[in-house]
Amino acid sequence: MSDPVTANLTAHVVILGAGHSGGTAAALLRQYGHEGRITLIGEEPIAPYQRPPLSKAWLKGEADADSLALKPLEFYAEHNIDFRPSTRAVSLNRGAKTVALSDGSQLAYDILILATGARAIALPIPGAELEGVMFLRTAADAEQLKATIGPGKRLAVVGGGYIGLEVAASGRALGAEVVVLERENRLLARVACETLSTFFKAYHEQHGVVFELSANVEAFVGADGNGHVTGVRLGDGRAIPCDAVVVGVGATPNDELARDCGLTTARGVVVDLEARTSDPAIFAIGDVSHRPMPIYGRMFRMESVPNALEQAKQAASAIVGRPAPPGEAPWQWSDQYDLKLQIAGYAFDVDEILVRGDPASNKFAVFHLKGDLVQSVEAINSPPEFMMGKQLMLGRKPVSKARLADPSISMKEVAA
Ligand code: FAD
Repeated sequence: MSDPVTANLTAHVVILGAGHSGGTAAALLRQYGHEGRITLIGEEPIAPYQRPPLSKAWLKGEADADSLALKPLEFYAEHNIDFRPSTRAVSLNRGAKTVALSDGSQLAYDILILATGARAIALPIPGAELEGVMFLRTAADAEQLKATIGPGKRLAVVGGGYIGLEVAASGRALGAEVVVLERENRLLARVACETLSTFFKAYHEQHGVVFELSANVEAFVGADGNGHVTGVRLGDGRAIPCDAVVVGVGATPNDELARDCGLTTARGVVVDLEARTSDPAIFAIGDVSHRPMPIYGRMFRMESVPNALEQAKQAASAIVGRPAPPGEAPWQWSDQYDLKLQIAGYAFDVDEILVRGDPASNKFAVFHLKGDLVQSVEAINSPPEFMMGKQLMLGRKPVSKARLADPSISMKEVAA
C-alpha cells in the first residue's frame, strides 16, 4: 500500500536545520528524483558544512574554509533548493502544517524534516559569561578559538571527551600550553574503556598536555575591570591560570520545536527506522533524533557524521518512496596527533574486553564482547581491526576469542 503522506515526488519538503544531516537530506532528495519544492532553513549564516575538522585539521590550519562546505553554495540554486541562511524556525503548527520563521513569515509544508542538531552544554557557574570562555560547535566558534590560541597562550579545556582531547592536541600543535580539566577520574569516561583512557592520557602527556582529573570546576575568574577570563577556580581552592577556556562537556539536542508541538521525545525526537517521528508528516534526523539501533535492540541518540548521513538517507528514501537503505553499523572517529581512532558500535551489555596488539606500539584495538559477539571495537591506527570488527558486529557473527587476541592471525582470517 502506498504511503498517503510521503512517496509523493511533488510534495513541498521543508528542512529545518542546514547542517550535516539537513544539507545531505536536501541533496539526496534531488538525487533520488524528488521534483517538488525543497526549502532548507538554517540559522547559521553559511551553507551546510562539516564540523569534524573544526577541532582537527581546520583548527590546526591544515584545511581551508572552503573545504568544510558539504557542497559549493551554487549547488543549492542549481538544484532548485531554496536555501535560506540566517533564518531560524521559531515554532511549528502541525494542524496547519506551517512553520513560523524568525523573519516573521509563515512557511507551509507538506513534509517536514527536523535536522536541528545539538548545542554545546554550558556550565552554570560564576564567570561563564566572561570573554574568552568558549565552546566549539559552529564554524564561528572555531574562528574565535583559532584566533585565540597560539604559541605561549594558556588554554584550559574543560572536559576530557573526544572534542576536548582533539582541541588539546590541536592547541599543542599551535604552540599553546594546554591543561585539561576533567570531572571524572579518567579521560573519555562516558565513551571509552580504561585501556583507552590510560593510553590517551599518556600520549597527550608526552606531547605536553597537563591533566587535572577528578577536577571540580567551580568558577571562571576574570581580572578586575576586565571582562576577560584569566583563570579557572577548582573545588579544592586552586586557581588554574589561563588566557582562554574551551568548555567541551557534551551536547544537548535542539528538540524544543518538537517538544513544543507535542511530538514524542525522549533524549531527542523519537523516530523509527525511516527517521519518521510520531507525526507521519515529520521526520527527524541527525543529532536531534533518538533512534532505534536494531543490532542492540535499543533506542539511542548518536552524535556522529555517519549517523547523520544514514538518517538523511532513511528520510529521503521514505519521502520519495524508495526502499529503506540497508542498516549500517554505527561508527565514528577521532584524530589526535598522529593517532587515528576509529570506533564502531557501542559497548552495551559487555562482559569481556579484549585487547589485540600492544598499546605501547600505538597500534592496537580494543574489542568489547558479549559472549562471543563483538559489541564494539575501538581501533587505534588499525584500520583492518576497525573494518572487520565492524563487519563482525553488524553481522552478529560469533568470533573465536583466542584468534581475535592473536595479532599474528589476520583480521580477515579471524572473521572468516
Ligand atoms: P548539525 O550539523 O549541528 O546541524 C544542525 C543545524 O541546525 C545547525 O546549523 C544549527 O544552527 C541549525 N539549527 C538549530 N536550530 C535551528 C532552528 N530552530 N532553525 C534553523 N536552524 C536551526 N562526528 C564524527 O562522526 N566524527 C568526528 O570526528 C566528529 N567531530 C566533531 C567535532 C566537532 C567540533 C563537533 C562540533 C562535532 C563533531 N562530530 C563528529 C559530530 C558531527 O559533526 C555531528 O554529529 C553532525 O554535525 C550532526 O549533524 P546534524 O545535521 O544533526 O547537526
